[in-house]
Amino acid sequence: DEDSALPDTQSGYDEKLAKELDREHERLQTIQDTRKSLPVYKFRSSLIEAIREHQVLIVVGETGSGKTTQLPQYLVEEGFTQDGKFQIACTQPRRVAATSVAARVADEMNVILGREVGYSIRFDDKTTPDTTILKYLTDGMLLREFMTDPELNKYACIIIDEAHERTLSTDVLLGLLKDILPHRKDLKLIISSATMNAAKFADFFYNAPIFNVPGRRFPVDIHYTLQPEANYLNAAVTTIFQIHTTQPLPGDILVFLTGQEEIEAAQQSLEEIAHVLGSKIKPLIIAPIYANLPQDQQSKIFEPTPKNCRKVVLATNIAETSLTINGIKYVIDPGFVKENSYVPSTGMSQLLTVPCSRASVDQRAGRAGRVGPGKCFRIFTKWSYFHELELLPKPEILRTNLSQVVLLLMSLGVTDLLDFPLLDKPGIPALSKALENIYTLGALNSKGAITRLGRMMCEFPCEPEFGKVLHTAATHDACKGCLEEAVTIVAMLHETASLFVHSKSDRDQNKSGIIGKVSSDHMLYLETYNSWRDMNYSRSWCIDHKVQYKTLLRVRNIRDQLWRCCDTLGLVALNEQAAKVINSSDRIEHRIIKSFISGFPTNIAKLGTSGYQTMGARQGGVNVSVHPTSTIFQSLRKDMAKPPKYLLYQRLVLTSKEFMRDCLPIPREDWLHEIVPHYFSSAGSQKN
Ligand code: ADP
Ligand code: MG
Repeated sequence: DEDSALPDTQSGYDEKLAKELDREHERLQTIQDTRKSLPVYKFRSSLIEAIREHQVLIVVGETGSGKTTQLPQYLVEEGFTQDGKFQIACTQPRRVAATSVAARVADEMNVILGREVGYSIRFDDKTTPDTTILKYLTDGMLLREFMTDPELNKYACIIIDEAHERTLSTDVLLGLLKDILPHRKDLKLIISSATMNAAKFADFFYNAPIFNVPGRRFPVDIHYTLQPEANYLNAAVTTIFQIHTTQPLPGDILVFLTGQEEIEAAQQSLEEIAHVLGSKIKPLIIAPIYANLPQDQQSKIFEPTPKNCRKVVLATNIAETSLTINGIKYVIDPGFVKENSYVPSTGMSQLLTVPCSRASVDQRAGRAGRVGPGKCFRIFTKWSYFHELELLPKPEILRTNLSQVVLLLMSLGVTDLLDFPLLDKPGIPALSKALENIYTLGALNSKGAITRLGRMMCEFPCEPEFGKVLHTAATHDACKGCLEEAVTIVAMLHETASLFVHSKSDRDQNKSGIIGKVSSDHMLYLETYNSWRDMNYSRSWCIDHKVQYKTLLRVRNIRDQLWRCCDTLGLVALNEQAAKVINSSDRIEHRIIKSFISGFPTNIAKLGTSGYQTMGARQGGVNVSVHPTSTIFQSLRKDMAKPPKYLLYQRLVLTSKEFMRDCLPIPREDWLHEIVPHYFSSAGSQKN
């Protein structure tokens, strides 16, 4: 017959295909079995019933029980989207969580990420308007959606996940949602949280019911250090090897560190020691996870650990509740977290490494008890746990600069900020400072109403200060015509953390090519981007100049989005008109500097007898130094230039002292009065 006439290769191919299909079928089966094994599965029908019955439901459950991945799928399966007429949104405080969970759920639903299931984070939207029914997005992105869709009409259900994190955006979202619920009777709101705070959410939503999903949890042995550790990073590395050499396999290790730098340092020292020990120890697989880790490397933490190996996950507090990694038996916890802190009276914002709350370290310990009995090694003392740690973390709204949120709320028509519903109300000083800041930027008029410029600043997917810079670059008489350059610099400033290939000497080398030509970090960023662009965005240019290619690709994408936004707002057209009549004696660099002064008048330091001091504060400045990574630092060190009298900085970081990062010298004092006359008085000192 016909079949037997087929050549051998053909039937071999068919066999291969059949095997592949079998494997795929098996994979899907495993996924479905895994889904059914999650604690939340047993409560599927009662959960759905409770959601149908109540407009607002608080869902509380052990981390890893399936709230984030399963609940939204149940809603889809139960037809809440009405055949795709409506969407389901699930917010996450962290970008990594949004992207990683979306990928997992797309896999579970056997669909392509970005079609039915997608994610949306700042500068990266992987959704399709016509087909996406389930969207994971950062809480900040959903907040922005209120500007275009004030009643969130395209959504049938909104899940505010990880609400216990109490990020600023989550808190404000809850307030806005509370306002629209009476007008959107059909909208379902689910607030998902770890145990802490659940009652507070219920109270806030007029005694909304709390649905408890009991998790499985094995006992976790807690060990403390006898004395405080001076260097917790070293102590953590030592503990890893102690566990690895004395404890049986399998059993992976999860270490909580505070950020990328620490994680990279730990990874390096682990690799060095493992290299020295060589075959004397079983292989270690080191898997880092933090917010800026490129997406393609994130999945490593979820890959099953091969037999006879041990996986060490080095994580920020992303692994505290947002992501669950299977197979963890040991947790190492130095007990620290990086937290933003803002002092309204000085207007200074800092990222500080501070001790975690008790709720956090308990949560971290719990991660060791998911597969079986586990152990948690705390690198602090028992005394410290009971006497020094706060009970709960402090909500972000009480320790951050509120300017952006206040501006957003005002653009949404919230005029009485004191009356706006919030779980925790910020103090009057913090609110006044925010109003003062946005007034200085020209976003409010003297009556306190939002201006056209203020609305424009909200439209930009970045801090209002940057929006002001771009507006000035296109329209101000003393600046206009430099919009292209300003957009590039603003885009670069979003990605400076991973711009240059690491290692100190490399950084110096890289810059040496450009350093002679530039007088500021801003110009360094501009030159770097433009050189790359002129080389046709080439990868080899990046390798030669020790610049991260992937980072520049992201910058290019951010740049495109900012440019489109400028175009929509009419700024591109205004800029082009200006460029035609621009006086060529006005150097572009000067115009760029002036544009940045307009956006960051409060971020300027003045050179005094004992170095630089900030100018923003009423009660006198704070001593600040140029960060060693700045081009300015290097030219000052080499005595190439007289230190500039005024320096604009993008950020302050506190380590051994207060450092200014990303510095832009201001060559002439009168520019301050020219650009922000209402802020800098003509006498040269700052107005009160
Ligand atoms: P919860 O939100 O209640 O903390 P999740 O829905 O995030 O729980 O996780 C449920 C389960 O799905 C966990 O056991 C977790 O290990 C698993 N899981 C989540 N993401 C992935 C992934 N990318 N790869 C493999 N397993 C995953
Ligand atoms: Mg979750």
